[in-house]
Amino acid sequence: KPVIDVQHVSKIYDNGTSGLSDINLQVKPGEFVVIVGLSGAGKSTLMRSLNRLHQVTEGHVLIDGRSITEAKGRNLRQLRRDVAMIFQNFNLVKQSTVLRNVLAGRLGYYPTWQSSLGLFKEADKQRAYKALERVNLLDKVYQRVDQLSGGQQQRVAVARAFVQDPKIVLADEPTASLDPKTAHLVMNDLKSMNQELGKTVVANLHSVALAKEYATRIIGLRAGRIVYDESIQNVTDAD
Ligand code: ADP
Ligand code: ADP
Repeated sequence: KPVIDVQHVSKIYDNGTSGLSDINLQVKPGEFVVIVGLSGAGKSTLMRSLNRLHQVTEGHVLIDGRSITEAKGRNLRQLRRDVAMIFQNFNLVKQSTVLRNVLAGRLGYYPTWQSSLGLFKEADKQRAYKALERVNLLDKVYQRVDQLSGGQQQRVAVARAFVQDPKIVLADEPTASLDPKTAHLVMNDLKSMNQELGKTVVANLHSVALAKEYATRIIGLRAGRIVYDESIQNVTDAD
């Protein structure tokens, strides 16, 4: 049974621009799917449709068999908890510490400076430390995020996704603002979430080379439609 089931999804923006046209896509648990395509192809629109950062114009998105398109209130919050998101620009609270940013994934809200870290459950803090260990940032726990390099900030975002314990991790151009060496560190962390923790990963990437290195399946988008969908064993150098 697919963990993501996209059925006849179209997205037309308010200004009339078509973002996606009749997308059908099933992703099985444990896949590492990379979506490639030129700028404007609809990659980001597809991501935002999967966790309902925006509502689709037509069709349905099922997460683990339940429609996120029609979910409301508590059901919608529960479904969103199953879908963690990593962004190109990290989306961290930069003036705050690494630990508070990572705890936000665990708590479902951002712990502000008013709330003392002593108030958090020991179990939550232990999970945050464990996640930071995984992304090799244990030495930065109490540093402000804006003191870190871009690669380190993105790994904080990956740690935040870890502690959310989602079924699915969406990554929208996670390496676009990083140098190649740092991009590999981030991709390796995503790969370990996929292989060691069994999370399903869907990532948008510009680089087809990077896609081939990490994906189990590559999907090509062009003008809002799927034009290519191959498992990695079938990807040839000509592709
Ligand atoms: P990609 O992520 O592949 O670069 P996008 O999903 O961002 O592509 O864009 C797909 C299409 O939708 C493009 O034509 C883009 O201009 C348009 N688009 C994206 N976001 C908006 C928006 N908020 N309002 C109007 N059009 C948009
Ligand atoms: P990484 O590859 O681990 O992401 P970099 O190679 O980019 O880190 O950075 C090397 C070191 O320089 C890091 O220890 C980081 O703390 C420091 N550094 C990089 N950029 C910044 C920055 N903008 N502000 C403060 N320190 C930085």
